[in-house]
Amino acid sequence: MNKITNHLPTAELQAIDAAHHMHPFTADGELKQKGARVITSASGVYLKDSEGEEVLDAMAGLWCVNIGYGRDELADVAARQMRELPYYNTFFQTTHVPAIALAQKLAELAPGDLNHVFYANGGSDANDTNIRMVRTYWAEKGQPERDVIISRWNAYHGSTVGGTSLGGMKGMHGQGSLPIPGIEFIDQPHWWAEGGDTTPEEFGLERAQQLEAKINEVGADKVAAFIAEPVQGAGGVIIAPDTYWPEIQRICDKYDILLIADEVICGFGRTGNWFGSQTVGITPDIMTIAKGLSSGYAPIGGSIVNDKVAAVLAATEFNHGYTYSGHPVACAVALENLRIIEEEKIVDHVRDVAAPYLAEKWHSLADHPMVGETKIVGLMASLALTPNKETRAAFASDAGTVGYITRECSFGNNLIMRHVGDRMIIAPPLVITTAEIDILIERARKSLDQAYEKVKAQGLFVEA
Ligand SMILES: *Cc1c(COP(=O)(O)O)cnc(C)c1O
Repeated sequence: MNKITNHLPTAELQAIDAAHHMHPFTADGELKQKGARVITSASGVYLKDSEGEEVLDAMAGLWCVNIGYGRDELADVAARQMRELPYYNTFFQTTHVPAIALAQKLAELAPGDLNHVFYANGGSDANDTNIRMVRTYWAEKGQPERDVIISRWNAYHGSTVGGTSLGGMKGMHGQGSLPIPGIEFIDQPHWWAEGGDTTPEEFGLERAQQLEAKINEVGADKVAAFIAEPVQGAGGVIIAPDTYWPEIQRICDKYDILLIADEVICGFGRTGNWFGSQTVGITPDIMTIAKGLSSGYAPIGGSIVNDKVAAVLAATEFNHGYTYSGHPVACAVALENLRIIEEEKIVDHVRDVAAPYLAEKWHSLADHPMVGETKIVGLMASLALTPNKETRAAFASDAGTVGYITRECSFGNNLIMRHVGDRMIIAPPLVITTAEIDILIERARKSLDQAYEKVKAQGLFVEA
């Protein structure tokens, strides 16, 4: 067995980590000084670290551990599948039972005629698949010039070259000369930060109509698809005003633009329905899936494709795929995860119990002197930190300064709550109980109180 174990002293693990492990989305130099927090085990909604602290994981890992940690059934299924058939590919006219069974299950769960699954290893590479897929679709239909994909500023669609390009995060574009050609952006429906004097309803419509303006600017005969998350996750849990999505759907239909819903976070119960598209009332042609598909127990993602797109692609050879597309162990784990979500009625639990309860408690934080809007759909929620609730002002300090202080307080109180700029976000495991929600809120409020004192003491409670 491996000689590095949980039993080494924390400082020793941190030193080895700093010497050899390059962390994603991390300034490694800075982390070296501080030492990474070492997580050793987990159960339900709680993580345990190498110092024996129990941490309430209100982010479900990276928005993925939907059924919670420590479910033996998934471990058992993985072990069984590894013994029976650890690997075989699905290239060159072969297949295997886990890939077949999972595709059938996904076709059953996905709405409408989203009946066809192309497997990837996660969300980023699934979105890379989508870029090639929608461009190939139009090329096969005799319109190869239709290759522009429209996305949104501050969207997150992954961190591969394709995923980063589709995403609208300028800081990411700056590393690696991205986006690739043929990606266009419109503004996000983020009323709190960008809505000015408009009402949320007016603003939602205005932002949706930017899609029509962009299509006309590029030329309708050049646009292949529009991609969006039903609820922006990594961008800060941005929930669009009610007027937004019906208008987006109308515009996609009018110009015959393919609609890609990136369901990597919203899928598999997060918003109180199986898919976020159902919650916001859209009919996508393609859905990107990952994360909650396996509750993070094994890496797997994919694209669920409707009959129309699948039929066109079936007419050609799509020269695309990953060695681990439809990996049997990951498929078996995902299938077991979906069985648990279904049989334990976890989507119902979100919709009928956990989400309404969390909503009430989350909104109660709005009375805090540093909290502006509180937003929630299903079990994903955000709140704006602000020095002035009335004017929705930003802080004078660099964006994220106050958010980071609040995050540090939260981590200190054994609550994993993230910050995006000066917005705090949570997305706990879907199995969270009302008693656990009480603990979450208690720790969140305590963290806000501590952060508020620090922010004032440092002279940061100042409007931009
Ligand atoms: C996390 C995420 C991705 C990327 O998925 P990976 O599995 O990290 O590659 C893509 N889209 C959305 C909406 C995500 O939240």
